[in-house]
Order: sequence, then C-alpha cells, then structure tokens
Amino acid sequence: MPGRIRDEDVELVKERASIEDVVRDHVTLTRAGTGRLKGLCPFHDEKTASFTVRPGHGRWHCFGCNEGGDVISFVMKVDHVSFVEAIEALAGRFGVQLRYEEGAAHDDGAHGRRRRLMEAHRVAEEFYHDTLLRSADARTGRDFLRARGFDSAAAARFAVGYAPRTGSALVAHLRAKGFDEDDLVLAGLVGRSARGPYDRFRGRLVWPIRDITGATVGFGARRLFDDDRIAAKYLNTAESPIYKKTAVLYGLDLAKKAIATTRRAVVVEGYTDVMAAHLAGIESAVATCGTSFGADHVATLRRILRDDSAGPPARTVFTFDGDAAGQKAAMRAFELDQKWASQSYVAVADGGQDPCELRLSGGDAEVRRLVEEAVPMFEFAVRTTLAAHDLDTAEGRVTGMRAVAPIIAGIRDRALRPEYTRTVAGWIGVEVEQLNDIVTHTPTRPAGRGDLGGRTGPTRLRAAGVPTGRSGGGSGDWA
Ligand SMILES: [Zn+2]
Repeated sequence: MPGRIRDEDVELVKERASIEDVVRDHVTLTRAGTGRLKGLCPFHDEKTASFTVRPGHGRWHCFGCNEGGDVISFVMKVDHVSFVEAIEALAGRFGVQLRYEEGAAHDDGAHGRRRRLMEAHRVAEEFYHDTLLRSADARTGRDFLRARGFDSAAAARFAVGYAPRTGSALVAHLRAKGFDEDDLVLAGLVGRSARGPYDRFRGRLVWPIRDITGATVGFGARRLFDDDRIAAKYLNTAESPIYKKTAVLYGLDLAKKAIATTRRAVVVEGYTDVMAAHLAGIESAVATCGTSFGADHVATLRRILRDDSAGPPARTVFTFDGDAAGQKAAMRAFELDQKWASQSYVAVADGGQDPCELRLSGGDAEVRRLVEEAVPMFEFAVRTTLAAHDLDTAEGRVTGMRAVAPIIAGIRDRALRPEYTRTVAGWIGVEVEQLNDIVTHTPTRPAGRGDLGGRTGPTRLRAAGVPTGRSGGGSGDWA
C-alpha cells in the first residue's frame, strides 16, 4: 500500500494548483462579477451557465446541481479518480514534490517510474502521429484511414499515428530524448533481441490508448503490410505497470463526460468504430482493447454512469456486427451480472456492418440510428433464439419455448420472472401457463464466469471488403 501523502504537501498542492487553469481545461469560463467566473456545468446538462468559480477562494460551485468544492474535488469528479490520484495529478502538473508518510522511498520509486513510463508514451504518441502526417513511408497508413472516411482532422483528434517499418526509429528517438532503455522495455514500447533493442510496433497504424485522465498508457497497432512478420491483425501493448488490458477502455478519456452527463455508454468493437461513432455524434463510445468486455470494464463504466444513484437508469448499448456474435455476448452478459444486463441494450446493423462501415455507407445519421434503435439485451437474446423456430406451427412454438426457457430460468431475480415469462409468451403466441410450466422445469444454467464477448482487434475489421467509395467528408487533404 502506498503511504499517506503528507498533509502539508496536500495543502501545498491546493495552494499552487490554479483552480481557474484546471477548470478551464473542461469549461469555457467568462467573467461574472468581481472575482467570479461562470460557465456551463461539466457535471449536469444545462443551457445557461450556473457553474461558478471563485479563483481567489479556490472554490467552485454549481447552482444547478448544487455540487461544489475545491480544486481537488473538481479533479476527482471530472476525471473520476480517487483523492490520492487527484493530488498526484495536480502535484505533477503544478510542480509539487509529494512526500509519503510511510515507505516513502519505495513509493516515490514506483510513482517516479509510473511518471517516466507515461512520459515515454506521451513522446512516443507525438512521434508516431508526426510520422503519420509527414513521412512518405506512412502513405499506406494514411490510405487506410482515408478509405475508412477519416481525414487528417480525425486522425489528429484521436492522435492516430504510424510506426515506421525500420524497427529502430522509435527507440532511437526516445533514447535521444534521454529515456532509459529498461523503462522502454518495461513500458512495452521496445523489445530486446540478441541484436539489440527494437521497436515493438513496426509498419503499423497505431492508436494511443489512454487512461481516464487522458494519459497515454499503451497502443493498439494494426497490421498494414503483407510482409509484416507478425500475423496478428492487431497488436496491443502487453501488460505493464501502467497498462492493464482487462480494465482499459479505448476512448474513455474522450467519452467520460458524455457518459457521465447522459448516463449512457456505447460499447463498440474496434478503434475505428470508436472514431466513427464520435465523429457521428455518439461521444459516449468506447471499445475494449484486444480483450473481451469483462467484469473490470463493467466496474469502470458503472463508476462513471453513477449506476447506484437515483434518477433515470443508466444504459449501455453494445453494437455487434452480427446476430450470432451479439447473441453469444448477450447470453454471457446474463451470466456476468444481471443488474448490468437489465440495463444493457444491443444494436446490430442490417447486413452486419460495424459503425465504421455504417458511417461510410450511410453517413453519420445511420450510426446514430443504429444506437437509437438498440433493443434490450434480454429481448435481443430471446428474439434471436426464437428466430430459429417456426412459430407459425405448434411444433415450432414448443421447440421455441424449450429453447428460450433457460434464458428466463436464468433470471436470478425471481420477482422479475413472471413478467418476462408473460412478455415472451406473447412473442411466441402461447399461454403464459404453458411457458411457465416449461420454465419452472428447466434447470438453471450454471452461473458461469465470463465476458460479454466484445472484442477490439483480431477478429474485427476485415482487411479487404471495406467500401472505399465514399469517404466521411473532407478527407482529400492527406498527402
Ligand atoms: Zn451542475
């Protein structure tokens, strides 16, 4: 356990950290009388400014949602981080050296290393993005993006980059900047072979993966060339002291505000899907990074959705590129967490297009429509199961009831079962008692551990077959 931060250092952070500067990163502030600034509240939806900051007092307050506090509570709320994480972020930004009550030497070492690994990622991100924009070598990467409707502004918004094919460009760049080779290996940016250090990502398009505060902690890299010695279409940063793949969500730093204010989250399957969704106006879109959607991801989203608070229920929409994948994921969701499943919705596009493809073929409006027309996960699971049965025949209705019975029997909240049974009986066209009889005689599926099946990368984004006819607007600016 890290030691407690010394009280005097906490006080120093409060003193040094300019609340005006910190708030301005998130809110456009205007003068509102002596010593007072105002703007639109980042914590609730509003059209007229009721969020105020008094820099002289180091305080903020919103007259709309009645929240308020100091610079630390602002960072905690806006970045969804703990008190200690907020202090550490502010200390780093305003140059306060923190001391810890116990195990100070050890903790300082770990914190120092964390900072160095994040700094290496920040510089690497810059290097990759710059290379994408300027290097002739990166043309294939630019073509890839253009073919999917992404112009240079889109690439800049998501800081997409290109890792040169030489295999040593990044390591040389980072060494010249004074980074330690051991740190670069630990961060997963650089590998070591008998011939020396080499860039882990080579000849690939790279997406920076950021934590919730916006610090880059890893990369996702897509294969571009047939002669790439690594066959995997997507390579992601391996586990490191700053990167935990079961917890990170691509796009969360950009999506957290929309998720928190609308209490809606959209989970798509790939990096380009996140880009397409945001550009289409779905700013609450995130994706997992090379792993299935699991319990840690649920916990992360819940924290931002304020799942336990009163008000309209939180809602999470999953987009899948086909009924089969969606159904599998829906079934797993029930096993994972039924309260979560009850707030989950599924969207599958006609023809199984993902949001990136949908934006290309139908434009932004089609992507928004996909999300709006999502159906509750339970309904989706039942309806896709029933689709295999001919409900116009008595035989089909019986086999259909048997097929969906385990789904209803699996609803752990027994109080909810009668209602679901009634609903499903209506869909099938049978008496409630008939279905209920089958459900009560159906053994409950063993509660399996599992995930929701959403996957970024390897299985996604077919290499060929992505339409290239229409580009998402103004993408003629690439070299
Ligand atoms: Zn407010």
